[in-house]
Amino acid sequence: MPYSTIFLINERRVKKARVSSILVYKTIIMSNETKSIHEFDIQLICEYFSSLERQGPGSEEATIKALSFIDNLTDQSQILDLGCGSGGQTMVIAENAPGTIFGMDLFPLFINALNANASKRGFQNRAKGILGSMDNIPFDKESFDLIWSEGAIYNIGYKQGLTYWNQFIKKGGYVAVSEATWLTLNRPSEIEEFWNSAYPGIADIGQKTKEMLECGFTPVASFVLPERCWTENFYHPQKKAQKIFLEKYADSPTAHELVANEIKEAEYYQRYKEYYGYVFYIGKKI
Ligand code: SAH
Repeated sequence: MPYSTIFLINERRVKKARVSSILVYKTIIMSNETKSIHEFDIQLICEYFSSLERQGPGSEEATIKALSFIDNLTDQSQILDLGCGSGGQTMVIAENAPGTIFGMDLFPLFINALNANASKRGFQNRAKGILGSMDNIPFDKESFDLIWSEGAIYNIGYKQGLTYWNQFIKKGGYVAVSEATWLTLNRPSEIEEFWNSAYPGIADIGQKTKEMLECGFTPVASFVLPERCWTENFYHPQKKAQKIFLEKYADSPTAHELVANEIKEAEYYQRYKEYYGYVFYIGKKI
């Protein structure tokens, strides 16, 4: 769900930004009368994405590569994976790093999928899904050796996320996030406008690296996710999911709109992939 669907939730309201993904309908503020409609929409969107192995672009190799820059982990380590979705990357981390890992997401459907997956793989004692919001972390300060977040920090903003999460990381601990990034200095206006309305926080690698420094981390590494993280691992698996979903919800305008947005996002990616992508940023808390 990289741009597809953004949910921001706080105590007072639910804002739903459907970025088709990159942004078709932007912000709906939940009021009492419309609550049931939005709940239905959210449920539908979660159902669509939870049928996929991943909810955003990425790959096992990219997760392992990002992990290779992190040198402080032991069996006692505590890791937090924010916006974990159904936990594709959480399982890769559990398989390739020692310690205990908590995956946190807003939606029960994803957390249930993660916990089922952890049990299936025998990781239930060290990989646990918990419900919660990445802007309200229910742990003590300096609890974690590593905070991870693939394709999800945009929900609260890169700088806001890094600043807030910093206090939950131990000194000398790490943060690793993948984030939408411009890959060139200039780009066609169509894609520039598309992104600026979807996620104005998009910036180039230099800017994101500087922001990481400003948030109290030494930038340790950054790398661009390969194209197949978007195509083979994210857009292609959606084709089958879209067919099943549209058959099941043939009468739902939300379902049709969601699928149309996903298709549009995939087309944009094909057309403009040299101009933007996801970049993994790894930083060490100073
Ligand atoms: N990391 C996963 C999922 C990325 S999609 C992957 O790469 O496959 C973004 C995820 O962020 C979704 O699962 C969405 O439910 C979650 N999310 C959105 N807002 C959130 C918030 N405020 N707190 C926690 N999770 C959130």
